[in-house]
Amino acid sequence: MDYHQIPALFVADAPGLDFLNSVATPVDEEVDWISDGEGLLAWLEQASMVPRAALAALRAQSAPAEFDAVAAQARALREWFRKFVRSRKGRPLSAKDLRELSALNQLLERDERYGEIVADATGGGAAFELQSNRRWKSPESLLMPIADALARLVCEQDFTHVKACEGVRCTLMFADHTRGHARRWCSMAACGNRAKVAAHRKRLKEQVQEQEEERG
Ligand SMILES: [Zn+2]
Repeated sequence: MDYHQIPALFVADAPGLDFLNSVATPVDEEVDWISDGEGLLAWLEQASMVPRAALAALRAQSAPAEFDAVAAQARALREWFRKFVRSRKGRPLSAKDLRELSALNQLLERDERYGEIVADATGGGAAFELQSNRRWKSPESLLMPIADALARLVCEQDFTHVKACEGVRCTLMFADHTRGHARRWCSMAACGNRAKVAAHRKRLKEQVQEQEEERG
């Protein structure tokens, strides 16, 4: 299905997992929001990972095929990282998991970040704040905020609470930050309700069967 028709999903409560959810089956058909360069640009904008001005500047100086190539790299990164998360969710990460992250460290090495003192916009006591900026030199620099989100996920998120939605055919993942860690669904509106309706139907069916058995 064409990703242009559907807004991307941001239900994971962790940007690194939202990136994994950039391919999903919201209704019947699979949607890959980063299936080409345009899709990647649109997804990064929706995720607020790249400033709009930087996206416009990159668009002006690069060819669509270059963005398509970066989108392919992003998809490969996504599926590699999905394996890492899928096999480790539900338990804390340990030091030996670091071995599996060398590809991500290699990507992080290419980041061109710099700090800038700007006027404080938060309305706090300080006049200035230190803002983190990034040089957006080439289409490949679009991978940097993604790498950053994946790195933050493994460094800051307790993997004990990284979960896959329990929806039958749902592939979405999320970080359960609810009190009591009882979240089961990507969203109540999607899989939660579907499961409720299915459970209700099952109960009704069982009741009917019981009544029929009683009648003999
Ligand atoms: Zn779901």
